Amino acid sequence: MLEKLRDKKIILFGTENMGNLLYKYFASQGLDVACFSDNLKTGVMNGAPILSPGQAWAKFDNPVVVVTAVNEFTRSAILNQLAGLGCDSPFSWEQFYPDYLKTGKKRDIDHESFSHAVSMIYSHDKHILKIPMLTMPITTVCNLKCKHCSYFMPRFEKPRHFSKDDLIQNIRRFAECVDVINVLTILGGEAFTHPELSDILASVSSIPNIVFIQVITNCTIIPADKTLKVMADNAIGIAGSDYGAFSAKQNGLYDTCVAAGVNMSIRVTNKTWSDFNCNDKTNRSAADNSKLFKSCWNRKICSQLYRGEFHLCNLSAIKMDLGMIPRVREDYVDFNDETLNMQALRQEMKNLLNSESYISACDFCHFGKVIPVAEQA
Ligand code: SF4
Ligand code: SF4
Repeated sequence: MLEKLRDKKIILFGTENMGNLLYKYFASQGLDVACFSDNLKTGVMNGAPILSPGQAWAKFDNPVVVVTAVNEFTRSAILNQLAGLGCDSPFSWEQFYPDYLKTGKKRDIDHESFSHAVSMIYSHDKHILKIPMLTMPITTVCNLKCKHCSYFMPRFEKPRHFSKDDLIQNIRRFAECVDVINVLTILGGEAFTHPELSDILASVSSIPNIVFIQVITNCTIIPADKTLKVMADNAIGIAGSDYGAFSAKQNGLYDTCVAAGVNMSIRVTNKTWSDFNCNDKTNRSAADNSKLFKSCWNRKICSQLYRGEFHLCNLSAIKMDLGMIPRVREDYVDFNDETLNMQALRQEMKNLLNSESYISACDFCHFGKVIPVAEQA
């Protein structure tokens, strides 16, 4: 596949971790990455300019585009945008990533199983149980106290790290139940406060139907060398949130990652957040809640494996844990429940993912109210 790119001007569409990773891979193979392209960022990355899609497409003769967006929803918008520019058959990251892992000896996995998982990530086959984005909180400890934290961390009276063994057991059981997890995001609280993070990452990396793994951080902590090594060896990316002055170690973390061979991208954070923190019952009608639920983007990108429970969104998972909303058993799948076999768990997953009806958290969700980013309590 790499040979199809040789002697071409390559445009890498996307500046997040996969773009960064493929840039280095292609460069190491003597390919010519002419630029990055991005709708939100400008500047220079790895010495290559970041151009808007229109600029990039017009600038080079007969270029080839490689789409590096892993998120299915972003990717689909990019494919439409490229088609509008006249680029009908771009390459896509998953055509190169399995070879990158295999030839680079990254991740201790069965590569055949991994390639099989990759073949399903954008499939629309209704028999395939795929999870486009799964988030796994590993701690409620955080060193910031954002007033409007959408994970409600400042509300935990006794913040704690979740047990490594429980986390590993939960994610293994979950991965056995589904066909593929496109992206697994590990976060907190602040994930780099967890003392056993390197062991957790090493175990998660060995699961072959998890395609891409990343850790989200608030950029206040430089991880231990041991953690960085596990991340480099397993192509685990860091997505750094940019909370301005609060993300005090952002530059130092980026430089450390470059030196350690870890891919790090800075997440483009909007200048405002949506306030998920108000918990007053909205008393919307059932029809209005259903409408909100159906149009909700958060549940498409923020499903949670939280303390062994699969929830459609962070609000459902953490508000239930904190007792802010009633615990409704139909609103989550309990992977802690040993009486459920794999078939039963799979059926519950399908029921929840395909549900047309809203979840109880929606009735407490004031989705959309705009507030400043990372305001501290
Ligand atoms: S950094 Fe802020 S938003 Fe992120 S988990 Fe901590 S308190 Fe919440
Ligand atoms: S509570 Fe409902 S509307 Fe709010 S983020 Fe979750 S799924 Fe979406």
